[in-house]
Amino acid sequence: SKSYQLVVVGSGAGGAAIAARFSSKLGKGKVAIIEPSDAHYNQAMWTLVGGGIVKLEDTYRPMASIIPSTCDWIKDRATTFKPDTCTVSTQGGEEIKYEYLVVAVGLQLRYEDIKGLTEGLEMDPMLVSNYSAKYVTRTINAIDKFKGGQAVFTLPNTPIKCPGAPQKIMYLAESKWKKNGVKKSSTITYNTAMGVMLGAPKYAEVLRGVCEKRGIQVNFKTNLVEVNPEKKEAVFMKLETGETYVQPYDFMHVTPPMSTPTELKSSPLVNAGGFLTVDKYTLQHSQYPNVFGIGDCTDVPTPKTAAAVASQCGIVAENLAAVMKGGTLTRKYDGYTACPLVTSYNTCIMAEFAFEGVPMETFPIDQGKERQSMYWVKLHILPRVYNLMTKGWWSGPAPVRKIFHLGLSKQE
Ligand code: FAD
Repeated sequence: SKSYQLVVVGSGAGGAAIAARFSSKLGKGKVAIIEPSDAHYNQAMWTLVGGGIVKLEDTYRPMASIIPSTCDWIKDRATTFKPDTCTVSTQGGEEIKYEYLVVAVGLQLRYEDIKGLTEGLEMDPMLVSNYSAKYVTRTINAIDKFKGGQAVFTLPNTPIKCPGAPQKIMYLAESKWKKNGVKKSSTITYNTAMGVMLGAPKYAEVLRGVCEKRGIQVNFKTNLVEVNPEKKEAVFMKLETGETYVQPYDFMHVTPPMSTPTELKSSPLVNAGGFLTVDKYTLQHSQYPNVFGIGDCTDVPTPKTAAAVASQCGIVAENLAAVMKGGTLTRKYDGYTACPLVTSYNTCIMAEFAFEGVPMETFPIDQGKERQSMYWVKLHILPRVYNLMTKGWWSGPAPVRKIFHLGLSKQE
């Protein structure tokens, strides 16, 4: 069996960033990544792929180019976590021993949990989903082909990554349909299992206004349970009463239910919901002090985004380094997360907030407005920031925020 000072499981946004930091610090042979996939995607750009603004290839990097050269890549799935003996076993039958472990396995898409959905996505070109590399490129064709009628967008009844993304693609589609004239003969409906537009009241209210202004029908606490692609019908459940109803569709964008990967769910490291239990401030595991978590797979109560991962990366890096030296944990995560809510092909509401949905905006302007400048940031700056993060060179915008707010009060 192999043995490492640090083992990182998963090489997505969070795992790559942590491995980069520690492999340069600890040197060759000390850090390993367990990751089965050949492809690393910047998923945060997939709204732009679905909207036809960037190509899927522009969001892709070979996994080999993401994993630091000083880090060993165990190209396999982690299957069993044994924190009492500090080992992780893999599908290929290897036992990997660690002194310290960072779990960064993200979320698993569960299209199969909705009856008829997987078949529907195969056979109906007007049934689309931005959430998977397999489907995301079809979205723009369906938006362009839509000839009017019922357009439906969904958000499921599970925690998901980027809870803003299910509505961003709706705003992009709506602005296309307005331009090409089909909006006049269409009904646009947003069926969300949430009770609000977004977890932060400031932006939730603004987004309510965006929907009202554009005549988008919003149904809260409404969850997709079945798709019948032959009849072009969807079945939704009203979560408060349990009653179901049939919704015909001519276009539908589905956000699938999600959970943590099965291997983590069945480990001793998680809560009843299957999420890695960590201290929400230090990101250290609640029972195993040599285990940390980062990203979508943890139970940290803040919306799951790459922006959150960036801030968490700085916290995990410092706190894990302290634990390695036998010191105490000093850094506390504030819950920072961000959701660039693209509202058209040239506007964006840049939602940034901390625990409890308290706004924490980087720029010295009111970000609760649709702005062209923030669209530019989303399109040109954030993809670069993501790449810096995976190299371990970015831990969130706090320093930028401090500079902008030095001597500058908030302006309209
Ligand atoms: P991931 O990046 O998903 O990586 C998880 C990794 O773990 C994967 O490489 C996977 O192969 C690996 N893995 C899984 N199981 C195992 C196992 N058993 N063993 C080993 N490895 C395993 N974020 C934003 O900040 N802004 C946005 O605008 C935004 N928009 C989004 C739009 C869409 C459509 C989507 C899908 C996501 C969006 N996000 C956005 C969210 C962002 O992509 C995620 O929050 C981020 O990627 C989470 O990073 P992570 O490291 O936790 O998980």
